[in-house]
Amino acid sequence: MRGVHTRRSFTLSGAALSAAGVASCAAGAFATNPRFAPVIAARERIIRIDVGLRPFRPSGFRVAREVRGAKTIIHNYGHGGGGLTLSWGTSALALDEGFDPAQRDYAVLGCGAVGLATARLLQERGAKVRLYAKALPPNTTSNVAGAQWWPASVYDHDRVSDAYLAQHFAAARAAFRRCQTMVGPDYGIGWEVNYNLSDRPITTYPAPEASPMRALVVNQHDLAPQEHPFAAPYVRRFDTMMIETPRYLRRMEADVRLAGGEIVVREFRAFEEVAALPETTIFNCTGLGAGALFGDPEITPVRGQLAILLPQAEVDYNIISSHGYMFGRADGIVLGGTFERGEWSLEPDPAAIDRIVRSHQAVFDAMRWPRPRDTAS
Ligand SMILES: Cc1cc2nc3c(=O)[nH]c(=O)nc-3n(C[C@H](O)[C@H](O)[C@H](O)COP(=O)(O)OP(=O)(O)OC[C@H]3O[C@@H](n4cnc5c(N)ncnc54)[C@H](O)[C@@H]3O)c2cc1C
Repeated sequence: MRGVHTRRSFTLSGAALSAAGVASCAAGAFATNPRFAPVIAARERIIRIDVGLRPFRPSGFRVAREVRGAKTIIHNYGHGGGGLTLSWGTSALALDEGFDPAQRDYAVLGCGAVGLATARLLQERGAKVRLYAKALPPNTTSNVAGAQWWPASVYDHDRVSDAYLAQHFAAARAAFRRCQTMVGPDYGIGWEVNYNLSDRPITTYPAPEASPMRALVVNQHDLAPQEHPFAAPYVRRFDTMMIETPRYLRRMEADVRLAGGEIVVREFRAFEEVAALPETTIFNCTGLGAGALFGDPEITPVRGQLAILLPQAEVDYNIISSHGYMFGRADGIVLGGTFERGEWSLEPDPAAIDRIVRSHQAVFDAMRWPRPRDTAS
């Protein structure tokens, strides 16, 4: 996230400087990231373990209007592993379903990335918003997200309709534009380079050539072996935005309040409690909670476990591989990659965490790049 954090323009120590010099002689080649620095993936550098439940629906997120008695419910939930990415886009679609310029008062249920984006879009159109949620940031799933700007693991390919895919692409396009307006330190959004390491030719990630999503992949290049330091036969690089979730959600919540939004901490245990709200139009952004509250049997958790390591200012890239992912965020090195469908427990599994750390350690140990370890310890 170089655009966000100037502290990342670090000064190399003498040893590191000579190491970097060796590297640039060895391969003018690694020009794609001349400041490449390895992650120190060691257990003793873990600062916390996060466990989160992705709100997954095999047929994709649900943006739909439903009339229940005297209430109009606008659903906007079920974003799987892409809610930070898609939130502004699905919220724009949700407003298309339920915003009426003649109506002033709206309720939003949920204070994660999706509820907050919905509330802001309503406020931008002059609406008065009351947001209800049982948990606020930092205690939401949205805080746990990685959070690379890319809608990954949002649906099952064999379960989606053409109509859904059209919605998905429309949401992604809108969100892509909106997030770009928020790049910078205020929201903790910045651009970062990703390296996808693979044993096989890369054809589908981040997007197949024929997919409309390909238009949202920036600066994609398949690298020759001399152009990267990884011990992988196939390496693709591309750039994405990254979202530093604690900073982003804190700022979004403040924006909602500054624009006159009221935030009420309240849990709804049954739809009847929602039906008793004073607002007649209610945006449902309750993520995984929508299953029990609105009776959606399709939504299921996909548990993800993350080991967050001490920040390394010099690590300004991401790696995605069969071992999971490493996101070089300014507030910590995020090591992740478990996708446990149907698993509700928020208890970390020490064996899984151990596997995540050790497999990433192996990736960095195998790098051919001279390693300025002394800059990060
Ligand atoms: C490990 C992990 C990594 C991820 N990585 C990425 C990534 O790289 N990129 C990306 O885009 N996404 C990522 N995600 C997915 C992302 O976190 C989710 O898609 C997103 O957080 C969903 O946002 P949300 O606002 O719908 O849900 P939440 O953040 O869960 O918010 C739901 C809100 O509804 C409230 N609520 C729920 N039920 C009730 C109720 N009954 N009564 C009152 N309030 C209720 C909650 O308290 C909360 O305020 C990741 C997720 C995990 C777990």
